Amino acid sequence: MRDIIHTAFGKFLSVIFPDNCVGCGKEGQVFCQNCVVKTKKQTRTKASVLFLDKLYYWGIYEDKTLSRALRRFKYQGIQGLSEPFSDILKDLITPQLSYFSNDALIVPIPAHINRKRGRGYNQAELLAVKLSEKVPIPLAPDILIKSKNTKSQTSLSGVERIFNVKNSFSVARPEFVKNKKIILVDDIITTGATLCEAAKVLKEAGANEVTGLVVAK
Ligand SMILES: [Zn+2]
Repeated sequence: MRDIIHTAFGKFLSVIFPDNCVGCGKEGQVFCQNCVVKTKKQTRTKASVLFLDKLYYWGIYEDKTLSRALRRFKYQGIQGLSEPFSDILKDLITPQLSYFSNDALIVPIPAHINRKRGRGYNQAELLAVKLSEKVPIPLAPDILIKSKNTKSQTSLSGVERIFNVKNSFSVARPEFVKNKKIILVDDIITTGATLCEAAKVLKEAGANEVTGLVVAK
């Protein structure tokens, strides 16, 4: 795993956190299959997010192992976690493959270019790329654009989050989105403000339906 950590910070952290499972501490894997399975809570829910037709999520953020894994992935540059996380997303979507076989696209929640530069990668994009290698659904990484650099949602309240992301996304090539089923990929959903805003612009661009696919809620 150390070979694929590109950022200096990531290299530094790989010394502190070697390839030990975030759940049980076993050496050799960043998130072992046993611990991954234990974090499974849910597979599908009726999306209570405006503009989102369906939502698939694996576990809940209150699960200590899952939240630790997500924090390491998002803030500590442990990119090796994209493997078990994309396996999780694959598991969630596999029962629906016949439904998504023809006119679906995998679209990551984009990060603004400034934030992507700071972190070295966009974790949602990394998950979407890995997922598209594991399921027969094409990836469309450049269709949804983060056109406005917004504050991190982490410190904001529910209402603030809605205003913060408002008008922050745009669709680069609406002709590719028209009449498509969009599978929007992100690592976590909290209030749903981000997925809501992204789904809204995709629908305005002509998408037939938008499904959220995330690791944790
Ligand atoms: Zn484990």
